[in-house]
Amino acid sequence: MTTIIRIDPVNPEPEKIREAASVIRRSGTVAFPTETVYGLGASGLDATACRKIFSIKGRPADNPLILHIRSASRLGEVAMDAGTKAARLSRAVWPGPLTMVLRKNPLIPSVVTAGQDTVAVRCPAHRIALRLIGESGVPIAAPSANISTRPSPTKFEHVLQDLDGKVDVIIDGGDTTFGVESTIIDMTSEPPTLLRPGAFTVDDLEKYVGRISVPKSLHNGVAVGQPLAPGMKYRHYAPSKRLALADRTSVMLHAPEVARAARKRVAILCSMETAARLGAHDAQSATIIQLGSSSDLYDAAKNLFNAFRALDRSSAELGIVERFEERGLGLAIMNRIYKATGGLTVKNAKELAMLLGG
Ligand code: AMP
Ligand code: MG
Repeated sequence: MTTIIRIDPVNPEPEKIREAASVIRRSGTVAFPTETVYGLGASGLDATACRKIFSIKGRPADNPLILHIRSASRLGEVAMDAGTKAARLSRAVWPGPLTMVLRKNPLIPSVVTAGQDTVAVRCPAHRIALRLIGESGVPIAAPSANISTRPSPTKFEHVLQDLDGKVDVIIDGGDTTFGVESTIIDMTSEPPTLLRPGAFTVDDLEKYVGRISVPKSLHNGVAVGQPLAPGMKYRHYAPSKRLALADRTSVMLHAPEVARAARKRVAILCSMETAARLGAHDAQSATIIQLGSSSDLYDAAKNLFNAFRALDRSSAELGIVERFEERGLGLAIMNRIYKATGGLTVKNAKELAMLLGG
C-alpha cells in the first residue's frame, strides 16, 4: 500500500513532513520532489532500506545512488578529505542541482556506492526535500523515482504511474523546477571531470572551481571505452516507443506529409519555433509535442521527460525530436535525447519514410 501525502512546496506542513520522515527512519521508502526530478528516497545509513530502492526500480546493483544532505556543512558526514575546492564549490552552489563525487566516508554502506570507494553527494534546493532530510536526521539516498530505463519523473503523476503500490509514501509536491537531473562532477580528479551534464551548466560551475574537464563522449551519448559514471552504460530516459533525432529542421517540416503517405502517425517533439513553422499540418498523421522556445532552454529541459511520456501515450508509432545546440543547458538536454534515442537519427524525408514503413 502506498500512502500519498500532498505537501505545499512553498510552506511544507510540519506534521506532514514528520509523517514522511518517520517512514524514512523506519527503513521505509519515500518518493519526494526536488528541484531537478522526483527522487526515490531511503535512509542513506541503512543498507536494508537502500536495497529496497534497487529492487523497486529494477536498478542494477552496480549503479550507485546519490546521497542527499541538508546543508554543505554536513559534507563531512558522508565524504572524506573533500578538499578546499569541493568545500568552496559546495558553499557556493548548494542548495542546488550539483552532485559531487568524493571519497566515501566508511560509515556509508557499500550498497549505496555500489562497492566503490567514492560517493555522490548533493544538497537539493527544494523545501520539501530539505525539510524531509532534516526531520529524518539522516542523509537520504535517492535516485530518480522512475522504474529503471523510464524517463525521470518531473510531475507527481509520473511517480504515481511508475511507483504506485511499490513504495511506502509518495509526496505530491507539484512539478519540479528544472526537469533534468543534477550535474555530476568528479571532484577526485584534477581538474574536476564532468560525469553527467545537468541542470547546472559547466560555465556556471567553472566560475567557482576553474576548468572542468568535459569528456568528448558526453557530446554524442555513446560511451567510448569505460563508462564515465557507472550508471551511464545503461539505456536511460527512454520512452517505450521508438524515438529518433531529427538531424535537421527540414525532416520535421516534412514529417506530416511523409507520415500521411506511409499511412502512419508520427509525433514531433519540437521547439515553439519549429511548431510555428509547421503551421496548419495534417493532425491525422502528425502530433506536435512542444518543448519550449529554442532561445530559452529552461522550458525545453523542464518539458523534456514529460514529452517522452506524452509520446508513449500518443497514438503515434514513432517520435522524432529536434536537435538543440549543445551549449549551456543544451548539453544536458542533448545528452538525455541521445540516450533516449539510443543513437537513432533521421537525416532526411527518405530515411523517415523508411523508418515509418519498417
Ligand atoms: P539517478 O539519481 O537515478 O540519476 O542516478 C544517480 C547517478 O549518479 C547515476 O548515473 C550514477 O551512476 C551516478 N553516481 C552515483 N554515485 C556515483 C559515484 N560514486 N561515482 C560516479 N557516479 C556516481
Ligand atoms: Mg535515474
